[in-house]
Amino acid sequence: MPWIDSHCHLDYLPDPPNAMARAEENDIRHWILPGTDPSQWQRTQHRFERDPRVHLAFGHHPWFLPEHDAEMGVLSRQLDDSTTVVAIGETGLDYYNGQPKRPPADHQEAWFEQHLRLAQDRNLPVIIHAVKAHDRVLHYLKQYPRVTGVIHAFSGPYEQAMAYIDKGWRLGCGSLILKSGKTRDAFARIPADRLLLETDAPDMRPKHPVHTIPLLDLLQTADDLAEARGVTTADLMAQTSANTRTLFGI
Ligand SMILES: [Zn+2]
Repeated sequence: MPWIDSHCHLDYLPDPPNAMARAEENDIRHWILPGTDPSQWQRTQHRFERDPRVHLAFGHHPWFLPEHDAEMGVLSRQLDDSTTVVAIGETGLDYYNGQPKRPPADHQEAWFEQHLRLAQDRNLPVIIHAVKAHDRVLHYLKQYPRVTGVIHAFSGPYEQAMAYIDKGWRLGCGSLILKSGKTRDAFARIPADRLLLETDAPDMRPKHPVHTIPLLDLLQTADDLAEARGVTTADLMAQTSANTRTLFGI
């Protein structure tokens, strides 16, 4: 089974066709491409919608929220417009207190809840970006128990991982596992069917990347996660790719 990168900003790479060809030589053949804002949805739809290797999601990234709530209908129309969308996202809450300044909390929460409501109405999984906001994210997930999806680039401890898993959610493992012992411990212990693998390329590189092309960071993360879980990289890749297919229906 070909391997899947469950969260990758292909559209931000300098030369996507070349990077994808290099990844395919290494058996990575599918990508979930999250949405960030309406103009990016248009670009990715135009560029990738007919590429069977790329699976699009649409959503307002919490860093790039529109100013006015009146624009909430824009996402709904985008979903109507696409025949191939696999998820809503990335959406979520980001309370990191640094630069660039994040939008105010109440604004983020209104938009996040709107995404969850749409996901419930349309029966689509959600890709969540959660930074320093896990309690609030869980608070909203409790209110939408039929909605499921993935907490992308999860970086918390085991107990926090299990709080999401107990609600039926999956966790995306990226290169943060190479940096944090508590995150590595969480990913070593959670149930295998809840694991997804991702690069978040090109944003989130390992501290010491072994590959020049960001799409190949998936292999480095997979090797480390496989070692942490005591399984082979090939078995881990097969499992995480199957989990990704199940979640996104691909
Ligand atoms: Zn992302």
